[in-house]
Amino acid sequence: MKTIGIIGGGQLGLMIIEQAHLLGARTVCLDPAADAPAFALSDERIVAAYDDPAALEELCRRSDAVTYEFENVPGSVLIPLEKRYNIPQGFRPLYDSQDRLREKENARAGGLATPEYAAADDEASLRAAVAKIGLPAVLKTRTLGYDGHGQLVLKTEADIEKALPMLAVPCILEQFVPFDFEASVVLVSDGSRVVTFPIGRNVHRDGILDLCFVPAGEMDDELRGRMAAAGERFMLTCGYRGILAIEFFVKGREFFFNEMAPRPHNSGHYTIEGCTTNQFRELVRFLLGEPLQEPRLVAPTVMKNILGQDLEAAEAIAAENRPGVHVRLYGKTESRPKRKMGHITFVGMTPAEYGAVWADRFVK
Ligand code: AMP
Repeated sequence: MKTIGIIGGGQLGLMIIEQAHLLGARTVCLDPAADAPAFALSDERIVAAYDDPAALEELCRRSDAVTYEFENVPGSVLIPLEKRYNIPQGFRPLYDSQDRLREKENARAGGLATPEYAAADDEASLRAAVAKIGLPAVLKTRTLGYDGHGQLVLKTEADIEKALPMLAVPCILEQFVPFDFEASVVLVSDGSRVVTFPIGRNVHRDGILDLCFVPAGEMDDELRGRMAAAGERFMLTCGYRGILAIEFFVKGREFFFNEMAPRPHNSGHYTIEGCTTNQFRELVRFLLGEPLQEPRLVAPTVMKNILGQDLEAAEAIAAENRPGVHVRLYGKTESRPKRKMGHITFVGMTPAEYGAVWADRFVK
């Protein structure tokens, strides 16, 4: 029996473990929090910091293949380990995604269009970036930003002054894209073949994913096919293996790379019930060296993220036990507003039906 090691014990780790077990593998998980959700199911637990070299070495030693569900694992600890252990995704896609400037340069080099951008490290370079890109624009910290944290929209020249405190750390200024909507694609590659999950439309609230509507009905087959093909080409060009999620802004018939993550993605949670195979299972198949399976959408599907403020509503919906309504709570011990506590997948549901029947059940 093979053992899969997972760096990170959040809900992504938990869902990787479920699929690993279904495919007959054991798991060992590393997380600094003793009550991390994934520890509820993992066969072995290592409670340690993500950058603890001895603990990571121990995780690798106990595993046949190691993956990560946490993006900020430092290269200084992962690079030496990938030479000696089987970490088939490697550090490279993490490295490419850990700095927004490098991430965008890499996306362009890999054939993806991006919003205009420029580095902003001090007042002079920020003013130069505004002169180059124009306003409105979005200032983001280059590293450690997520879910809209570390971002500021600059609308007028007067906003530059307000943005200066952000420049305590290196930043990137991006053209503000007045997109029609956001969409994402999740891909799994074994290095030569790529399987691609159906593309959904994503709705964010306060920078956090709120809803996914699959398929993205606003895109026709040609546009969805072009986005999937661009993602596949990008993955192969970069030589990435394993799982990759790419978020795009869609404007008219064009799409612009926003960001990527070399791990299962929140916008792919719908695949568990909404597709014939899911993002976690294909990642595990890749890790086990098994042939990948091409996913198919079972029916139109809606995924609603459950943040702390919607937990009670989700529990009530779970108790109703309705067909096609899959409530998944992650078992986090502390609920806070804006903390991802679970998600609900509605299989066989259109955006219009969701809006008419379900939207009112959640906090506006
Ligand atoms: P991010 O953390 O980069 O994914 O940004 C969080 C959210 O902010 C995105 O999902 C968008 O809704 C919005 N956003 C980020 N960058 C831009 C941009 N360049 N133009 C317009 N909206 C943006």
